[in-house]
Amino acid sequence: MALSRCPTVTMNDGNTIPILGFGTYSSKGTPKSDCEMATKVAIEVGYRHIDGAFVYGNEKEVGQAIQAKIADGMVTRKDIFCTGKLWSTCHRPELVRPALEETLKNLQLDYLDLYIIHFPVSFKAMEKCKDAGLVKSIGVSNFNRRQLEMILNKAGLKYKPVCNQVECHPYLNQSKLLEFCKSKDIILVAYSALGSQREPRVVDEKSPFLLEDPVLGAIAKKHNRTPGQVALRYQIQRGVVVLAKSFNEKRLKENFQALDFQLTPEDMKVIDGLNRNFRYLKFRVYQEHPNYPFNDEY
Ligand code: NDP
Repeated sequence: MALSRCPTVTMNDGNTIPILGFGTYSSKGTPKSDCEMATKVAIEVGYRHIDGAFVYGNEKEVGQAIQAKIADGMVTRKDIFCTGKLWSTCHRPELVRPALEETLKNLQLDYLDLYIIHFPVSFKAMEKCKDAGLVKSIGVSNFNRRQLEMILNKAGLKYKPVCNQVECHPYLNQSKLLEFCKSKDIILVAYSALGSQREPRVVDEKSPFLLEDPVLGAIAKKHNRTPGQVALRYQIQRGVVVLAKSFNEKRLKENFQALDFQLTPEDMKVIDGLNRNFRYLKFRVYQEHPNYPFNDEY
């Protein structure tokens, strides 16, 4: 069993989550075999937190990579923290467990470490999946404060969500949502922490390039690091669990080295100053839905 250098934090249910996760989403044009290859390399490099979702369409490949690394003795099942996400077509309570079981089958696993609701809806059926032992922890994604409060104030709530996975980077630093989550002992997990994959039709092509920001560049230069490492380190130092997607071996390794250095309090303040509440992934197709989360301030 290979130990990872990646520290963990304890969630409100007592389970732990590695602070740096490997993102497995890639655009439709990317061959699925790339995902399998990259997930294997990620495990070899030391990533132990793998972030997946049914809707990414590559759970089988992620599962094959995990199984291969278990088979060759590099890791055991317990070393890997595997996240899955309940897609929006399966929110009816009776569809939740079958959806989770399909994900488990795709991944060739008998439990998930974390199962989260991809977009805001109901939570009760998720609690039942935890009780059935199919998942160790349950959380949410893309919930705004009001939606989190609705869950937290729900009569008969059995388990608080352990996390809220949201877009978070220096241009959308989510400081208010982060403060709220911390006050409720909910971990904020950052996606698109490197500025997203800028998929055409999803992300406006005029969006600023986060990793080309001159302020991030100057801080990176000062520490002899890259802007990507600075963007990831920024999250780690503010108590955010951060995801990084790269299917490129060099960048995937580079991102893991975000664990190896420190930004100064002054650097952190300067990066805080880059916030402009700019969201790359607006998910506009859901804009008319009553639960669309991004109309509230946070
Ligand atoms: P990121 O912001 O993590 O990465 C964006 C792009 O940056 C990648 O395409 C990658 O390309 C490139 N990159 C990676 N490392 C570096 C580096 N060091 N320097 C320069 N470029 C780099 O992407 P995502 O938006 O995909 O977010 C990460 C993960 O978060 C997803 O894969 C998914 O698991 C999750 N997610 C969850 C969502 C939700 O609704 N809950 C929504 C969106 C994402 P390359 O591969 O070529 O290196």
